[in-house]
Amino acid sequence: MLDENLPLRGVLHCHCGNLLSGAPSRGRHGGWYYYYKCKSPGHNNISAKKAHEQFLEACELMSLTANEVKVLKEKAVEGVERHHAEEQRMLKEKKAQLDNLQEKLFAVEETWINDQISKDTYERWCSNYNGEINSLNVEILRLGKQETHLFKLLDRNLSLATDIRGLFEKADTVAKQEFVNLRFDRNLYYEKGIYRTPTMFDILSRNHLKMSEKCLLIFEKKKGFPIGNPFGWSRRDSNPRPNMV
Ligand SMILES: [Zn+2]
Repeated sequence: MLDENLPLRGVLHCHCGNLLSGAPSRGRHGGWYYYYKCKSPGHNNISAKKAHEQFLEACELMSLTANEVKVLKEKAVEGVERHHAEEQRMLKEKKAQLDNLQEKLFAVEETWINDQISKDTYERWCSNYNGEINSLNVEILRLGKQETHLFKLLDRNLSLATDIRGLFEKADTVAKQEFVNLRFDRNLYYEKGIYRTPTMFDILSRNHLKMSEKCLLIFEKKKGFPIGNPFGWSRRDSNPRPNMV
């Protein structure tokens, strides 16, 4: 159950490992207050307003500088270009295979016209070749598409990384939860008034000392966590989508 007033419900953990639940509560003057709470007595019971402000401040410190974004973009473009070159190579190969098959098909037709094979044999060969030709055509079509879309996505996603706070604020609840799960590898928890995580991408965590100084978030690094690019997506994904928005 999603509630836009409680975007961290279901993704933020208590220090004991439980996911925090959240609920509204009526205040003294009739207004509603929201809070996050662990089901174990004596554990977290925190004001959602405070938790959100704290999280947004941490987001602000995760934002990249324009120059960092530029470097990331260059790297990513390199990757896309390499991928593109590989696809072009495959495209050429498939087209050559297609030409070859078409020639074979003509040859079979010719043999049939010259009465050198039976109608049955002719039809069997034709259907074999046509099957292969069809699947090659599908492959060729697939390889021919894609790239411009990838470039646009890449550009948009990386440009947004200069304002992670704004990005988070504008996102809907589903995207906010995806953000938390992805950026912290489902390991964001709360203890003694501060967010904590053992897993955070390097590129987002370079201000982590400032984050802990300001009592926002403590990054207790876990060994072996991949440092990869949190703004990327899987190449194998036939329908690439940004991780955010
Ligand atoms: Zn707890």
